[in-house]
Amino acid sequence: MLHVHSFAAGQWLAPDSQARDIENAVTGEVMARAGQASLPAADMLDYARTRGGPALRALSFHDRARLLKALAQHLGTHKQALYDLSFATGATQRDHLIDIDGGIGTLFVYASKGRRELPDAQVYLDGEVEQLSRNGTFLGQHICTPLQGAAVHINAYNFPVWGMLEKLAPTLLAGVPAIVKPATSTCYVTEHAVRLILDSGILPEGALQLVAGGLGTMLDHLDCQDTVSFTGSAQTALSLRAHPNVLANAIRFAAEQDSLNASILGPDALPGTPEFDLFVKEVHREMTTKAGQKCTAIRRIIVPKAQEQAVIDALQTRLSQTVIGDPTAETTTMGALVSRAQREDVLSKISSLAAEAEIVVGDLEGFSVEGADRDRGAFVPPVLLHCSDPDKATAVHQTEAFGPVATLMGYRDLNHAIKTANQGQGSLVASLITNDPETARAVALGAGAFHGRLYINNRTSMQESTGHGSPLPHMVHGGPGRAGGSEELGGVRGIMHYMQRTAIQGSPDMLSAINQRWVPGSTQTTPKAHPFTLPYGDIDLGDTLQSQPRTVTLDDIEHFAHFTGDTFYAHMDEAAAKRNPFFPGRVAHGYLLLSFAAGLFVEPNEGPVLANTGLDSLRFLKPVEPGDTIKVALTVKHKTPRNDDYGEVRWHVRLTNQDDDAVAEYELLTMNAFASPSAAGAVA
Ligand code: NAP
Repeated sequence: MLHVHSFAAGQWLAPDSQARDIENAVTGEVMARAGQASLPAADMLDYARTRGGPALRALSFHDRARLLKALAQHLGTHKQALYDLSFATGATQRDHLIDIDGGIGTLFVYASKGRRELPDAQVYLDGEVEQLSRNGTFLGQHICTPLQGAAVHINAYNFPVWGMLEKLAPTLLAGVPAIVKPATSTCYVTEHAVRLILDSGILPEGALQLVAGGLGTMLDHLDCQDTVSFTGSAQTALSLRAHPNVLANAIRFAAEQDSLNASILGPDALPGTPEFDLFVKEVHREMTTKAGQKCTAIRRIIVPKAQEQAVIDALQTRLSQTVIGDPTAETTTMGALVSRAQREDVLSKISSLAAEAEIVVGDLEGFSVEGADRDRGAFVPPVLLHCSDPDKATAVHQTEAFGPVATLMGYRDLNHAIKTANQGQGSLVASLITNDPETARAVALGAGAFHGRLYINNRTSMQESTGHGSPLPHMVHGGPGRAGGSEELGGVRGIMHYMQRTAIQGSPDMLSAINQRWVPGSTQTTPKAHPFTLPYGDIDLGDTLQSQPRTVTLDDIEHFAHFTGDTFYAHMDEAAAKRNPFFPGRVAHGYLLLSFAAGLFVEPNEGPVLANTGLDSLRFLKPVEPGDTIKVALTVKHKTPRNDDYGEVRWHVRLTNQDDDAVAEYELLTMNAFASPSAAGAVA
């Protein structure tokens, strides 16, 4: 018997007399107990707010990203123990790869995105600086800072590890501590993952707590800095988001809930095409993986009317090969549902669906189970229904049987297919299998607003595609309406639920200090030496190199034109250039100006600048004519460490003419070493 503990305010709490029994999905035996009569909810929130939050907020995004990477590596070395425990949830080894390896993979992706896409700072800048005044002395910038409360994660039973880690990654990266409440039926797996994390000592104290069992009075104690991220059924979501304190304090509440996801077979994907086979394969996989207990599983199969029987026959062939049984056996392709209560729920949902659709595959009485007792475990065979009139049906578009169950329906034309897919009133994902780009465009325009993700697959992408049902950390997971109306994941977008966006208004110097980025118009300082001779750490934001002037001659333009081959008429033909509305006559090439600029600001000797890695936001603002004199101001705008040896420096470059008018502006990127090279002749 496992005694599943909560981790509350620094203490492990054992289950007490009020604990709930948890059954083994395969044997039906009680194998664990979890829950306490009274959870110290207020203490847990206080612990998160006063310990975990300040410790996480003291770190930069890059520091937090490093924590995520360390966690991923640590869990990766202990995943066998998680696999071993997870079999009791009814999951097979293939299912574990989605839950456990998928969760660890999500940590890795967020760790990498945090280092590459977020600053090594505590403030995330949302968008560009807004010019709010004529002379640029009053500017605006949207910034995001971490909420100063706790993130309460209420998770569904089906992914005890991924379900925790996919929320934990963006939460911790944002700088917010989490209180994780897994569904009780599989919380023993989550508890083990939490023990691994806490025992590793990687996270600061208070960054992670666990509720095994009921949430107690937690929602009563939330305030405006706390958030709730819920995953589960629509019914539970409704009752929690309607909690008086959640409503009264406008507590952020994100819901990922049940969803009648659809998959459309394109009109072009006839039997015999690679797309037809691909469609059957995807549907089969979605029905049987995790025994259909996936929020993204295909519930509605939408095919051209003329192909209904062909698809049913092909699915029948594949589904009949499903080996249902003991999840630990290598030959088993589909395990059990999580509990017998869940089996009863699925069977009753099948009855509701059967009022509108006919069961065409699946024998609920006569199916066999390998290596386990069919009646003691929570086994259900794959069930395919056929609905002949989806326009009149309601249950098939509204009833989620959270098991290996899907309903097939025919469409007359593509508009009818789109209408049918949208009848789910909002889903996490819809897929379309077609080799016709125009079909893809019509479905994206007609169905995009109803679905959080559109997965389009064909012969080109099928080898590398990730599957209809796989939420990816890079892409938004969530959908409108029935799916809960929220978004998770989606790369850096995923951290926004845990941060407050604030519009900052003020002078350029104020914005530079807050943004940790030099803003044009703010103070420019003189560097200790030529900035290209200074190691990364000795360059300060605002340090500015003012170059010598250089006059651009007609000979320069001629030489550049013939040397590069760029003899565009605006540089070569006075009359033609004059006819052009942009030019007064022959003008210098923009690229000539950039090259001259480099010549004006560069320091030629070997030094800490390792490479010029790019150039962003280039604008040519005013033509330069022969005889004009240009000069350059090179200002340190932003710095980002990349590894232990060097970091990226983003320079603001402004080229001006003899009248001090800007002729070009851009951002130059260089990689600068932390130390000067020690070779003889190197810059000191
Ligand atoms: P559920 O019964 O709604 O439970 C979800 C979570 O809410 C569990 O942790 C549950 O804890 C908790 N909960 C229930 N009542 C509560 C209350 N009064 N106060 C606080 N917490 C409460 O859903 P489930 O059966 O675990 O999961 C299946 C459903 O989740 C399906 O509908 C599926 O579509 C959906 N789902 C959606 C997604 C998604 O990303 N959109 C992902 C996975 C699953 P207890 O277990 O302790 O009751």
